[in-house]
Amino acid sequence: MDINTELKDLLHRRKLKATSSRLELLSLMKQSERAVSYSEIQQVLSDADRVTIYRTLNALSDHGIIHKAQVDGNDTYYAMCDTTCDDHHHHHDHVHFHCTKCGQVTCVTTPKPLNIRLAGHEIESYEVLAKGLCKLCA
Ligand SMILES: [Zn+2]
Ligand SMILES: [Zn+2]
Ligand SMILES: [Zn+2]
Repeated sequence: MDINTELKDLLHRRKLKATSSRLELLSLMKQSERAVSYSEIQQVLSDADRVTIYRTLNALSDHGIIHKAQVDGNDTYYAMCDTTCDDHHHHHDHVHFHCTKCGQVTCVTTPKPLNIRLAGHEIESYEVLAKGLCKLCA
């Protein structure tokens, strides 16, 4: 199956129309091993205006296909979700790693599931951000 067919399939399974901006955005994200920043998205989707990009990101995120990986200063990073996310909720058991040298953001799975508990609080989701040097920069 080529990447476009695969992505169309994914959108249809989540009851989303396979518009060209959604397909373009997803193929960019799928082919990237790291999170993609909003400014990169703007460059790739050069035909789309701000509103279209905003709506595209929101629709994909509402349907459990992508997630916000990090907000760093002026930029926001997005990454593909794994199969544990669906229309109703995101379930991420990974850490977002921000390299302080090259600035790249990646989703990193921990060897053991994270198990964060806070006495008296009912946790629905959490985000973990780690900073340091990535494999390439270390
Ligand atoms: Zn997700
Ligand atoms: Zn790095
Ligand atoms: Zn992530």
